[in-house]
Amino acid sequence: MNTTIQVNYIEGFNQQHLVKANQAIQLVQDLVNSNAFKEAVLSVRRFKNPRVRRRTGRRRYSNQEILDLILGGRDLNNPADQIMNFRLRLYDSQVNEIGNTNMTTLIISTFKGYLEDNAVGCYAAHLLHEYMHTIGFTHSRFDIFGRDRTVPYKIGKIARDLLGADC
Ligand SMILES: [Zn+2]
Repeated sequence: MNTTIQVNYIEGFNQQHLVKANQAIQLVQDLVNSNAFKEAVLSVRRFKNPRVRRRTGRRRYSNQEILDLILGGRDLNNPADQIMNFRLRLYDSQVNEIGNTNMTTLIISTFKGYLEDNAVGCYAAHLLHEYMHTIGFTHSRFDIFGRDRTVPYKIGKIARDLLGADC
């Protein structure tokens, strides 16, 4: 059974943003269902801190379990319904940044300029990074050693590589 994406909330997008967002969502959906993505996740040598908030135990999740959380659409402690729920918001900013996820509302906020100035694959990879936060994976706010091996960064990198997104 394929995993699908549902957008449950949208804020701050104009018509052009929506066109690009829809393309990105399709890219993410096709990506997570692809064998290349599954193989890439399973072959990560060692994720840093593969633990999730809000789930019992805070144990380390295996690569297969991480993949299952993604494909099961396990955001917001949802059951494995194979639906990834996206709550999307665009915002203005004076500084050049990408975005973040509110861990309470699970709304993924993206700097408008990032969506406008980058290829659609970049926004797609960003969405997948942020989706790892909605599942409960975290990372340091700061670019410390090993942050690129956390689940959000590593999955985002896999997405960029497979989508050929240079960002
Ligand atoms: Zn992040």
